[in-house]
Amino acid sequence: MAEFTPQPSCADPEDKNRLSIDAARQRIAKLVPTLTAWHHCPLRDALDRVLHQDIVSPMNVPAHNNSAMDGYAIRSSDINSDNFSLKQVGTAFAGHPFKGKVDTGECIRIMTGAVLPDDCDTIIMQEQVESNDNVITIHGKHRQGQHVRYAGEDIKTGATVLGAGRRLMPVDLGLIASLGIGEVNVKRRLRVAFFSTGDELKSIGETLEAGDIYDSNRYTLYGMLKRLGIDMLDMGVIPDQKAPLRQALLEASEHADVIITTGGVSVGDADYVKELLAELGQVDFWKIAMKPGRPLAFGQINQALFFGLPGNPVSVMVTFYQFVTPALRKLMGEATPPNTTQQVICTDAIRKRPGRFEYQRGILFEDEQGQTKVKITGEQGSGILRSMSMANCFILLEEQCDGVAANTVVNVQPFSGLI
Ligand code: AMP
Ligand code: MG
Repeated sequence: MAEFTPQPSCADPEDKNRLSIDAARQRIAKLVPTLTAWHHCPLRDALDRVLHQDIVSPMNVPAHNNSAMDGYAIRSSDINSDNFSLKQVGTAFAGHPFKGKVDTGECIRIMTGAVLPDDCDTIIMQEQVESNDNVITIHGKHRQGQHVRYAGEDIKTGATVLGAGRRLMPVDLGLIASLGIGEVNVKRRLRVAFFSTGDELKSIGETLEAGDIYDSNRYTLYGMLKRLGIDMLDMGVIPDQKAPLRQALLEASEHADVIITTGGVSVGDADYVKELLAELGQVDFWKIAMKPGRPLAFGQINQALFFGLPGNPVSVMVTFYQFVTPALRKLMGEATPPNTTQQVICTDAIRKRPGRFEYQRGILFEDEQGQTKVKITGEQGSGILRSMSMANCFILLEEQCDGVAANTVVNVQPFSGLI
């Protein structure tokens, strides 16, 4: 992994120099390398994996000129009026070409996908033909080359059909298969180790004492990492104590490319976590001008990248999607996906103070006229995971925005655009 150079920290107590989201992203992007390891894998196993090399077509698609319709293959030089007759001398089925000769005044019956004989250049749809004792009468106007699919029309031999860095989708598997390719080169899987910190956290199955809560962050993290096709090491809940935390971080750094922790990076707990991280690696504590998800720790422990996310469940998801996902994608060599934000009318008024970027949880819906609009999910506290569950998008409110009046246009990021 590339040498990590620490960046100036923004953990100043006055919050004067809080990092903008873009600046934080840029700093992260600068420090995250791209892994070069890759391996060969059978096509089916390549679903959701990142391509290491371009897929170049070894053949024309379609391979032969063929018919786009059920009908008759003719020689266009035989078209002499709106009503003419030809002799049918054979039939071509998909997978069973007609091997004979088609002379002037002759035609063959041809099915969709069947190879077009070299002698023919035009297809007549069967609906425009009357057939009687191997003689067909053709009605209407016809154009040379109609209903013919030409060899190489979709893909020419040597064309790049998918670029390196592409995360393979179901359609890609089909496309690659259509070229007769059964194995591809993909980037190696990333390994991410994660754990939760907090003395109040209990795992499912344990009894909750007063003040305890169930650890939900490890489950959302599991889901988000799984979607990215990442191998995971779930290290459970680590108490807020130096020795177990040190041990967990060291163990994680031995086994993973990336370590993600949640909790323990806000002002209340940061001091000694900071001390520990300074001892083990190079980690900066950033205050980001955003809500939710203000505190974020980022750096390196041994050879592993480290993300210390805040503890609040919504903050975890927001900071993961905004900072960790792009970093993981870069690490695994994935090309940057297109921006999926869109502008829609927000039917609710939203109160907001300028000075920080807000990710409000929104619900995209269709009004009675069929127009897509957005409303907020209600309470927006960063501990309210249900606000994420009810939502299907983030409403993006820029740093300088000082509130939104009802029925004005806002930017939204649909969850479907996030993995
Ligand atoms: P912290 O960042 O550690 O101060 O935690 C902020 C808030 O998030 C506190 O209310 C914690 O109880 C809560 N929290 C921290 N970690 C988790 C977790 N793994 N699952 C659910 N809630 C958490
Ligand atoms: Mg805590």
